[in-house]
Amino acid sequence: MAITAIKGMSDIYSPEVEVWQQIEEKARQLFARFGFRELRTPILEKTELFARSIGEDTDIVQKEMYTFPDRKGNMLTLRPEATASIVRAIIQHRLYNVPTMGKFFAIGPMFRYERPQKGRYRQFHQVDAEVVGSKEPVVDAEVMYWAMLFLEEIGIRDSELHINSLGCPECRSPFRERLVKYLREYEESFCKDCGRRIYTNPLRVFDCKVEKCKEIVKGAPKVLDSLCGECKKHFEKVLFFLDKTRCTYKLNHHLVRGLDYYNRTAFEIIASGLGAQNAVGGGGRYDGLFKELGGPDIPAVGFALGIERLLIVLKESSPQLKIGVPDLYMIALGEKAQEVCFSIAQGLRKKEIYVEMGYELKSLKSQMRRADKFGAVHVLIIGENELEKGIAILRNMVTKKQSEIALDEVENILVERIKKESE
Ligand code: ATP
Ligand code: MG
Repeated sequence: MAITAIKGMSDIYSPEVEVWQQIEEKARQLFARFGFRELRTPILEKTELFARSIGEDTDIVQKEMYTFPDRKGNMLTLRPEATASIVRAIIQHRLYNVPTMGKFFAIGPMFRYERPQKGRYRQFHQVDAEVVGSKEPVVDAEVMYWAMLFLEEIGIRDSELHINSLGCPECRSPFRERLVKYLREYEESFCKDCGRRIYTNPLRVFDCKVEKCKEIVKGAPKVLDSLCGECKKHFEKVLFFLDKTRCTYKLNHHLVRGLDYYNRTAFEIIASGLGAQNAVGGGGRYDGLFKELGGPDIPAVGFALGIERLLIVLKESSPQLKIGVPDLYMIALGEKAQEVCFSIAQGLRKKEIYVEMGYELKSLKSQMRRADKFGAVHVLIIGENELEKGIAILRNMVTKKQSEIALDEVENILVERIKKESE
């Protein structure tokens, strides 16, 4: 039996891979406009990095991580998200000391052992952004604006920004008490996980996907009502700057995110067409994480977008992008002609022209059919006759018009023509 890929892990190939490339390219361009620098970290880290940052009682750490010992018995984990690794790297290389740095982005695969379904895979990819070193609410608004602008620029228009504040450790502990008091009244009705969470990590109950739990939390006390003065001021300022970007948003009192390191601002971006997995991305502020991971006390805010989910939304909302049509298709009839074609092709490619050629020495008819499949408009044909006359035939596949070009001028004429057309 042939070997297949691991369940929940996909091969990405054309024509879909071109959409991936465009999304990644767009992200890079937009990051550049906002002054983000790329930070690439290994996909394998020590398990304790994630256990300590994401939180022991989160779904990710409890059941979703790919964790295994290496040959020496050290426990390693395939990264389930990017923030922890980025924070580790910034601490390790003291990047917080570099005055021109502070905005970091990463694009790459993440791994979570989840039940594969639409929008949920075991290897998936994220576009990730982190802004380090400022506790100002203007930064929270700016990263949300980045995400919303990015969605707009790749063609996703009907997405919703949901936002909440989770407060700080000070306002969270009285809130926690109020919440636990409420949740305990329904103790019997919760799913098994939430029954435990009431005592270990009660805010997590808000993030539960089980219907009966979702019903109960509808009446739960709201974090926003318990914010301390500073957190309240911060949140108001975030909304103030967000209003200035003209992004629309919704306050969502149940939004807590699936990772424990967040404080104050938390947000999620919801898009239609995704079914149960309706978040294309999410993020928030994590002012305590640097210290938690052994670094200096540095505030930060960031987010991640899931590329697979962006693709699902794009597929359902807009037509497929047309991709990869060659500027020129070359047909050689006979071995001698192939030698000449080969040289011309490499010359044109060096001059930034996309050239395809028929590598098999087949009949004109069969090569023309292949050129058609590529969607090529310009086809250059060289056979024995043409070689003798020192010319090539240029055929326009749309108008069916043909013209002769002297072989020694082919390169210059084609470069000029093709570049002019693409202007
Ligand atoms: P969900 O509630 O859908 O499980 P999450 O809160 O676990 O999402 P985050 O950790 O916030 O997700 O990751 C940010 C984004 O990464 C998500 O909004 C989603 O687009 C994407 N993502 C997360 N897990 C997966 C997965 N298993 N497969 C595909 N994309 C994912
Ligand atoms: Mg999840």
